[in-house]
Amino acid sequence: MLDKAVSGIGRGLERLLGSHNERYLKELTEPVEEIKHWERTFRSLSDRELRAKTDEFRKRIEEAVKGFEDELEALRNQMNEALSAKEKLRLRGKIREIEEKILDPLIPEAFTVVKEACRRLVGKSWEVAGVELEWNMVPFDVQLVGAIALHRGTIVEMATGEGKTLVAVMPAYLNALLGQGVHIITVNDYLARRDRDWMGPIYEFLGLSVGVIQSQMPKEEKQAAYRCDITYGQNNEFGFDYLRDNMEIDAANQVQPSLHYAILDEVDSILIDEARTPLIISGPAFESTQKYYQADRCIRPFKVIDQQTYDNEVQEMVARGMPETTAKAEVEEKYDARYDQKHNSSIIHDRGIIRAQRSLNVEDFYGGENVDWPHFLEQALRAHHLFKRDQDYVVKGGQVVIVDEFTGRLMPGRVWSNGLHQAIEAKEHLKIKEENQTLATITFQNFFRLYEKIAGMTGTAKTEEMELYKIYGLEVLQIPTNKPLIRHPYPDAVYRTEEEKFNAVIDEIMEVHQSGRPVLVGTRSIEKSERLSKMLKEQGIEHEVLNAKHHQREAQIVATAGQSNRVTIATNMAGRGTDIVLGQGVAESGGLHIVGTERHEARRIDNQLSGRAGRQGDPGSSRFFLSFEDEIMRLFIPEWIGGFLQRHTVAEGEAIEHSMVTKAIGRAQKKVEERNFQIRKDLLEFDEVMDQQRKLIYSQRQKVLLGEGLKDMILDMMYERIEIAVETYCGARRDEWDFDGLIAWARKKFGLEITEADFAGKSPQEIEEFLYHRALARYAQKEKDLDEEAMRYLERFLLLSSIDSKWKDHLYRMDQLRSGIYLRSYAQVEPIIAYKQEGSRNFGEMLDSIQEEVTDLIFKVRPQERAEERLARLWQVEELIHREFAGISRQQKAALAASETAGEERPQPFIRKRPKVGRNAPCPCGSGRKYKHCCWDKDHARIGA
Ligand code: ADP
Ligand code: MG
Repeated sequence: MLDKAVSGIGRGLERLLGSHNERYLKELTEPVEEIKHWERTFRSLSDRELRAKTDEFRKRIEEAVKGFEDELEALRNQMNEALSAKEKLRLRGKIREIEEKILDPLIPEAFTVVKEACRRLVGKSWEVAGVELEWNMVPFDVQLVGAIALHRGTIVEMATGEGKTLVAVMPAYLNALLGQGVHIITVNDYLARRDRDWMGPIYEFLGLSVGVIQSQMPKEEKQAAYRCDITYGQNNEFGFDYLRDNMEIDAANQVQPSLHYAILDEVDSILIDEARTPLIISGPAFESTQKYYQADRCIRPFKVIDQQTYDNEVQEMVARGMPETTAKAEVEEKYDARYDQKHNSSIIHDRGIIRAQRSLNVEDFYGGENVDWPHFLEQALRAHHLFKRDQDYVVKGGQVVIVDEFTGRLMPGRVWSNGLHQAIEAKEHLKIKEENQTLATITFQNFFRLYEKIAGMTGTAKTEEMELYKIYGLEVLQIPTNKPLIRHPYPDAVYRTEEEKFNAVIDEIMEVHQSGRPVLVGTRSIEKSERLSKMLKEQGIEHEVLNAKHHQREAQIVATAGQSNRVTIATNMAGRGTDIVLGQGVAESGGLHIVGTERHEARRIDNQLSGRAGRQGDPGSSRFFLSFEDEIMRLFIPEWIGGFLQRHTVAEGEAIEHSMVTKAIGRAQKKVEERNFQIRKDLLEFDEVMDQQRKLIYSQRQKVLLGEGLKDMILDMMYERIEIAVETYCGARRDEWDFDGLIAWARKKFGLEITEADFAGKSPQEIEEFLYHRALARYAQKEKDLDEEAMRYLERFLLLSSIDSKWKDHLYRMDQLRSGIYLRSYAQVEPIIAYKQEGSRNFGEMLDSIQEEVTDLIFKVRPQERAEERLARLWQVEELIHREFAGISRQQKAALAASETAGEERPQPFIRKRPKVGRNAPCPCGSGRKYKHCCWDKDHARIGA
């Protein structure tokens, strides 16, 4: 319903939302009344009895949970498997519903307990971020209302200074009782630390643990902080921890537990302003580019033939009466390697392996450090024998640019996977760039969607209500101030030039300053701050300048900005979150005066600035100064308005105060807000492809990391490779079946010795099963030889290294794709669609190549020394970035807007769905168990191994 209303327009909407707000508020007053009732009862409890309430609540929750255990477990499992954002949202809603059923009845009592704890702490002092503070807060009714709304997963708009820090404590306490952690997320490390220190004693009084995470914190400390009932921290840090955990090669080093409930402070800044830029972890793309050149040099002198010639030579010998296996061995003695056009592959013969080992000075390719050499060599062979310059690719500007095999177009941005691209660069004697690539990335939008429930609080959210609802499904509730707001907003003053404007700003500051009132001046940049500072110095006015660089120090300065005679210049974010308390006698002289030196792109940011005055019913005032040279005016105010006004003003230096200007500015800001919303939506759309892929890989990877179901995973992969091979060699027409090919494949892949007689009279499906049983027998043998523990270790290593290296390679390709996609001249395809399609295709290829590699190596590699080191080297982190999204320019955006209707591309699941009954599918007999654990053995016994 709200959705419809939100997408509607005009005044009707405001009225509707307004009345919705009223209704919601009214709904929340009922529990507030109940709290009053409980207060009388709890007041008489001893401190110990009050604390015992926490245990009592926990027990009651435990009891209530019992009724829902199965349902919750099932939902959580589905959550883990769900791929689409929509499905996640739906499941999350269901989980929340249940948790609400469990927690809601406790709201009045639990919140009363917190309130009572606050009351008992009044007069006590403790250290908050290094400063001794006396506690004096007991939640007001409006704060209780805000607390209930937060518990319900709402965005609460409460003005600056209304005490949101305290509001968060109540829902945090209640939700923490579920035992899955609560995260309270702020915009910088300093505020996280401050809030933890400030509110910590309340939780501790009630027997809950509280921690804070900080960037640069050692892992053990972070783990401890995350284990607490409540964890405070900064937004980037939570996101980066998530990404870093998914690059860990040892589960014991992961820090972040499941994401349950988050309360975001200054939520608009996190979900709107910062959401324009994704979090990125980057590092070197290649361990070393040298190996490509070495492999290239190594295979150049090789004697190489194509598959056809190989087959012919073998046939000739067989015709002369030689057994086939001997014939093959003879041919393989003569050549180092062969390549196969049909299967686009290369095969190194034993002779080639020995030769390469000697020339590279490596003892053994299948142990220790050297397992990746065969891969480099194979790619070098393919580069030389299967890819032709000016046909498959061109060399342009020192780079290999792929030619599309169907259209013949150049495809900048597309790169071949798995090091083939670099192998071709080596072949062409080009420089392989030592570049950085994305190792992990996520947008805030998608990160916060991982939580079961989020809620937020801020002084300014109403203007972004629509976006918050559409993207995050969050409602905004405006809560009235505790005391009436008496801040006086003066109308904007508009000047012709920036210089005139700044002069007027200085005049205003001096005038107010003379009356003894403090002044806070907001600017849009450090540069403007400095300009003003210089001008003030010339006038001999003492002042402070804050640049949002040293959060703690600036917080201390801003805290005193309400003392009489103070002048403070601050950029947007400087000192935010810090309360400005008025000094002696300041209220009597009119309170804090705010001077804005420019209108910001978003109305919200202006409101943040003016909202710094008039806290808790204090007097105060604000005025914004503008000029026709300001960016927003130049870009967005219709020219005729400017012209009209300029004509109708009298003298230089004189201000225009005209409602026409104010209205036009409001409209201009709306336009910019919409544009920025579009940028965030584009980013989200780009990230959507990656989001599904990331979830899939991360969840599989996590299973591997924890050593869950390794054997199953490997056997499934083997089965599927066999299935694909049988499909390839024994296709639709029986007379075209290629048993020789299949036998060779099975030997190379799994080391199986099979003859044509083994296939006699079998259907393709029976052949598949026969091969699988043979491979299974080999597997069982290897498992016995190694012992199970060593086998699991080997599997874990193999899967992890394969997933990680292929995933990394995929991320590299996606980087290239994103930056190159706009260089292509597509006739009809929009870049975003092309990106989605190629992204999905790349991902499919990646899944395939993981399977291929794992099954190739499972019988070949031995347990290795220093395996962990090899894994760790893949993920060398160089930089943590949170910067401007560079993907799209303005023109590109128009094209993007047109592509809204692009169909959703779903990535293939990790194990592809089989048309027949898969080993992992529910058994057809209806037992509800997996096929392989049920009738599979019975059904396949007749074939025998
Ligand atoms: P916000 O985050 O909403 O801007 P803060 O949490 O920083 O506000 O709190 C601002 C100040 O308001 C506190 O430092 C405190 O002085 C005052 N305050 C908030 N709630 C109460 C209360 N219930 N009783 C007394 N003072 C309060
Ligand atoms: Mg705050």
